[in-house]
Amino acid sequence: MIETKATCCYCGVGCGVVIQSDGQQVLGVRGDPDHPANFGRLCSKGSTLHLSAQPGIQKQVRALYPEMRSSRDQARVRSDWDSTLGSMAHRFAETIAKHGPDSVGFYISGQLLTEDYYVFNKLAKGLIGTNNIDSNSRLCMSSAVAGYKQTLGADAPPSCYEDLELAELIFIVGSNTAYAHPILYRRIEAARKNNPALKVIVADPRRTDTAREADLFLQILPGTDVALFNGMLHLCLWEDLIDLDYIAAHTEGFADLKQTVRAYTPAFVAQTCGIREEDLILAARLFGQSKASLSLYCQGLNQSASGTAKNAALINLHLATHQIGKPGAGPFSLTGQPNAMGGREVGGMANLLSGHRDLANPRHRAEVAALWGVADVPEKPGKTAVELFEAVRQGEIKLLWIVCTNPAQSMPEQNLIREALNKAELVIVQEAYRSTATVPYADILLPATTWAEKSGTVTNSERRISRVNAAIAPPGETRHDWAIATAFARKLEKFLDKPWTIFPYDTPEDVWLEHRESTRGRDLDITGLSYQLLDSQGPQQWPFPAGATHGQPRLYEDGIFPTANGRARFVNVDYQPVVDKIDARHPFALTTGRLRDQWHGMSRTGTVAQLFSHVAEPGIEMAAPDMARRFLKNGDLVHVTNKRGSQIFTVSESDEMRPGQTFIAMHWGEEYVSGRGHGSNFSVGVNALTSPALDPSSKQPELKHTAVKILKAELP
Ligand code: SF4
Repeated sequence: MIETKATCCYCGVGCGVVIQSDGQQVLGVRGDPDHPANFGRLCSKGSTLHLSAQPGIQKQVRALYPEMRSSRDQARVRSDWDSTLGSMAHRFAETIAKHGPDSVGFYISGQLLTEDYYVFNKLAKGLIGTNNIDSNSRLCMSSAVAGYKQTLGADAPPSCYEDLELAELIFIVGSNTAYAHPILYRRIEAARKNNPALKVIVADPRRTDTAREADLFLQILPGTDVALFNGMLHLCLWEDLIDLDYIAAHTEGFADLKQTVRAYTPAFVAQTCGIREEDLILAARLFGQSKASLSLYCQGLNQSASGTAKNAALINLHLATHQIGKPGAGPFSLTGQPNAMGGREVGGMANLLSGHRDLANPRHRAEVAALWGVADVPEKPGKTAVELFEAVRQGEIKLLWIVCTNPAQSMPEQNLIREALNKAELVIVQEAYRSTATVPYADILLPATTWAEKSGTVTNSERRISRVNAAIAPPGETRHDWAIATAFARKLEKFLDKPWTIFPYDTPEDVWLEHRESTRGRDLDITGLSYQLLDSQGPQQWPFPAGATHGQPRLYEDGIFPTANGRARFVNVDYQPVVDKIDARHPFALTTGRLRDQWHGMSRTGTVAQLFSHVAEPGIEMAAPDMARRFLKNGDLVHVTNKRGSQIFTVSESDEMRPGQTFIAMHWGEEYVSGRGHGSNFSVGVNALTSPALDPSSKQPELKHTAVKILKAELP
């Protein structure tokens, strides 16, 4: 048996795994005892990875060879790589010549490896000359990126996992850590056992499993996080729990914020958030008095039309109380996807450039153009995820290339997304799985390799870069994502009369070395790292510049921030209510989230039978009084309706929500109702209803809240 080190391909904890194989087939998986994220532990998803890789399952669900169709009324037929990529390059060259480079777009994924991400970004921005490339990380992390940059000056989580063991207080906001980042939650449980003085506060509209175990649970109303954080800051000011010396020496902008938070009195905040004043006061005292307060946060803050403000308000609280830049303290954003962080490092989003550079900065554009060997990088901002699909729907973007993601299920306001996919002149889907809801829209299907078959690197939530190694040979005619983009780029270069290639890559390491060079002198400098060092010494945190002997576990310990004057910036933020208002016609708040044992659209976890033992099928959860008032009982089918659509779900009683609030898991798509024999295509999943309202800075949609009405379904 061969043992190969890799990482888990699910969440942003980035656990190390050891894949057991015979070189052809995955036989088993175990946690890597040497990996500093998990020290050998795996959750229910990670420990069943090998079951999803069994040949019988792979045969059923994998895309194994290229397919094309000549028109929308034809079925796709098997093709070969050379003619498929040649045909694509011809279509791209023709469309770019006729309509300009912004007539094409790319929608990529936080599940790609860093090397994949890098090549696609260079293909779009460097070779084609469009910034129309965005990632599904836009739905996940872009508010955290904007929040860090606005306050601390760089997109760099300042804390590390070891801080879980060093904190005196852990403040979990908008994160069901027990489900979404299970191995981190195990570390919190162990830390509490070892240190009974460690307190945990959870703020969330739902009484999740994470909330149930907290010392203090603040069941805030949806979207009221900024009011909560400003209210806590108000109390910290009142009770002399802020650090005036730190504020004076290392920050700017506090005077304006101080004026703003005067209005956030305990009475106002308690009423706005729907919590008790004494709980608010206790939370502020615990946070401000603790020697080390660590905040963990995720989609509950990010997936909001005021997501950047929520991130900034929480970071304000950390800066004012000097709960940052020291062991056990800091605002620590958890990444949802396994390599959302790597995507941010290579600038694989519409507004970013390689090495944490900004598209809007002319010097940064010139630096990247020089690195890539192109005349320039276009200045015009690219379309972000929701805008990208709207541009397709409007006919502005004609060719769309979707890589390793499933927008026909995961994007908000599905009817518009599906309309866009139908209207595009050409949809290319590059996927490992042929079972996703997006594949039927593909005019060209490019079969990609996946976990256990790929090599490269990923970066987890604590800025730790891990090597990923292939354990088995790619099945069928599948190819690696970076290699598909490289082969296409070389063909397109010929159509564009480029005399030489700017894609001289034969291995993922060739790509990584260029990426490494792009970080030189930047806040994430990794010029001291190599594949060899990562293989021999294990995963490392950035920054890790040339000459360093180790990475940096936590940032800003010297109080110097990567801003023009070295000071962190308080951002003056006010509470804004959710966009979709509750009213008489739509009296319920609907929120979405993950389940413990499923991942995204279930293309992989859906192949593992035992992962359905926790929750077998989708449904809407409601508070008991709401069900009683509508004469509903567990198992009834209900129409869940708003201005964007109407879906049928099974209803069940839950004590997690207050009356007036409801929850639907994000994982199921259109197949579930037809699978239960209730007819076909009743449902395209919860995202038929979710809101595309965008945060003005991060352009992240408000997936966490919409208003709905719920009526018992009368089936024919
Ligand atoms: Fe995988 Fe995340 Fe579970 Fe770790 S915690 S095993 S990375 S799903």
